[in-house]
Amino acid sequence: MIRFSLFPWSRPRRLIALGAGVLLAALGTGLMTPGGAAAAVPDTTELAYYDVTSSPSTTARWLAADLARRGYDVLEGPLTDGVPILATAADTRRLRGLGLTVRYAGPLYQPVPASVQAAANTFYGGYHTVAGHEAHDQQVATAHPDLAVLRTIGRSWLKSQGRGGHDIQALCITKITSGDCALNTSGSKPKFTLMAQMHARELATGELAYRWIDYLVGNYGTDTAVTRLMDTTELWVIPIANPDGVDIVSSNSTRPVSQRKNAHDNGCTGTGLGVDLNRNSSYHWDVNQGTRCSETYPGAGAASEPETQGIQTFLSQIYRDTKPTADFSAATTATTGTFLTLHSYAELNIYPYGWTNSLAPNNTDLRAMATTMSRANGYDAVHGDGGLNYFAPGATDDWIYGTLGVPGFTIEVGPNGSSCSGFFPQYSCMTSFWNLNLPAFMALGNAAAHPYPTGG
Ligand SMILES: [Zn+2]
Repeated sequence: MIRFSLFPWSRPRRLIALGAGVLLAALGTGLMTPGGAAAAVPDTTELAYYDVTSSPSTTARWLAADLARRGYDVLEGPLTDGVPILATAADTRRLRGLGLTVRYAGPLYQPVPASVQAAANTFYGGYHTVAGHEAHDQQVATAHPDLAVLRTIGRSWLKSQGRGGHDIQALCITKITSGDCALNTSGSKPKFTLMAQMHARELATGELAYRWIDYLVGNYGTDTAVTRLMDTTELWVIPIANPDGVDIVSSNSTRPVSQRKNAHDNGCTGTGLGVDLNRNSSYHWDVNQGTRCSETYPGAGAASEPETQGIQTFLSQIYRDTKPTADFSAATTATTGTFLTLHSYAELNIYPYGWTNSLAPNNTDLRAMATTMSRANGYDAVHGDGGLNYFAPGATDDWIYGTLGVPGFTIEVGPNGSSCSGFFPQYSCMTSFWNLNLPAFMALGNAAAHPYPTGG
């Protein structure tokens, strides 16, 4: 999930769960009336999903903000069943001791069929490792020299330190003609960029990027819509925006590590390591998004991370800047291009702005594109705090719109509260995610030529 900060004045969202017990020990008296549902949880240290409620007087919004301030990994989503958190059983006992009702909502991990674990360059039943993505990118570019070009657009934090790490890769997919896929704005085709797995633990997103690549190169010349799109548009794909983080996630092939941020060594332990790359952009970067070890730590400064620098530089190279600097000055109707970043989960199509509830100057056209996506995938189209009570200053989608004028969207892939929900759904869930979201990808690709028909 990408966003948070329940209230603009609240403390950042997620200190790591390991720290929650300490914070709660200092809490003292409980906030709420007595409660405490029994929950059958196997292990005191294993993370799982829970819904927290207090009755009857405390609103869910207030409770969510309070839990976040106290260091819990509070998750985004509707508050109808309580405040969703990712926590250990030991943490939940402390919460119950405070008089809160805590309901076990489901495991972090799903059963993994043993038969598929052994596939090369995959983990957790089929998800591709960074090495798997890199091999795939290279294989596609080699096999389809007329349709794909592989570029290096940046490097990870570990690579920048000479400690291993990865380049950040981008594939340009189109029926290549002279001048296509250059790292400048001189090409004649409009561009659609799909980026995935900036938050490393959001496993579904990288897989959708992988399938998008295969779908495009596999259907050129046979599928009319794909052929037309690739004849007219450059389709850029950044399958793994945070490769160091994904290496951490995949380091346990059956029980992935819940790493969201990059691997910037900030002195924090466990998943406190790193910077939240979706709070690190240079547009409305906000120091108050999180303290050093929290899940929404925005870094030491705007665009402090090499991943952010690489991605921003790349996008600035390929898209023309058609928007005045002022937040509420509109991009011109001559704008071309579209951008999509994939996150999980909450079933949302998010359009700018995400840092404020004030309407973006191109709101009519932005909302129309998001609504088109909603007709495809059935997700709600939202902006601002989206009814979820949090803002996301420093996010990529706001950066590309606010800085360049290119319409930038986020899809939060996957549901709340089903067998395919959570950060680590069974790999078999990818088929339904793909079928739902492919038409949204196609719609944004087709919108790249003229994204602002009304100018409003
Ligand atoms: Zn996310």
